[in-house]
Amino acid sequence: MLEVEGLTARYGSIAALRGASLSVGSGEVVGLIGPNGAGKTTLLSTISGLMSPAEGCVTFEGHDITGHSPEKLLRSGVALVPEHRRIFADLTVEENLRIGGVTVPAAKRAELLDEMADRFPVLREKWDVSAGYLSGGEAQQLAIGRALMSAPRLLMMDEPSLGLAPLLVDLVFELIGTLREQGRTLLVVEQNAARMLAVADRAYVLRSGEVVASGTGAELSQQDDLFDTFVGHVMPANEGLPASGAHESRSAGGPTG
Ligand code: ATP
Repeated sequence: MLEVEGLTARYGSIAALRGASLSVGSGEVVGLIGPNGAGKTTLLSTISGLMSPAEGCVTFEGHDITGHSPEKLLRSGVALVPEHRRIFADLTVEENLRIGGVTVPAAKRAELLDEMADRFPVLREKWDVSAGYLSGGEAQQLAIGRALMSAPRLLMMDEPSLGLAPLLVDLVFELIGTLREQGRTLLVVEQNAARMLAVADRAYVLRSGEVVASGTGAELSQQDDLFDTFVGHVMPANEGLPASGAHESRSAGGPTG
């Protein structure tokens, strides 16, 4: 569905991306992990048209979308849940969702609004409340709901669990799991690498603007240096890596200590 080839992007003289390539298949959930400043946000920004690449190309469903505007991308079926949510604080929950659906026909928008009310009960309860009054977890659900309102075929999320309390982090990963079961295609940037690997089909590791590894959680776990650097340090001491079984091959002296 998505092919990114040799993407380079710069902020002035700083190359934040250096020839990064990745692909996302239809129905796949793909994680993008890596340390702070690795270029993860820049990669999503470049795919979604918020930044223009210096080199490289982005193909979506066989069409070259390199450098297309965010609006055009949204109409093509690519939506982004941005880092820090960026909901419209002065607008109500419903208005935020309606804006998300601005590219779909009115009848479909009404149908999607009903779907969001069912999917996010906490938002239904605050339908007419200004979004600025929402808690972090509610705001994150609204940001995801707003993106889903465009009926995207590819949904990208930038650090959806960032700054949330543990229970709400669980909620975000449950939601990613549900979207996966529903056959959605997702590309998700996450600092919480262990949780992401557990729910993703595959992941890419980005470091200093370059893709340095990719594979399933189990495959990445075989690369001890990468695993310890990008997964181990964020894994709580009493928690293993679920689902993929990636941690099972590791000794007790692995990243969990
Ligand atoms: P984080 O996890 O901290 O969000 P990231 O992997 O998403 O990091 P980016 O935000 O894409 O990384 O940043 C990649 C590099 O580009 C970093 O060196 C960062 O300092 C730099 N950078 C990001 N935004 C800008 C900007 N607006 N102007 C100049 N440099 C920037």
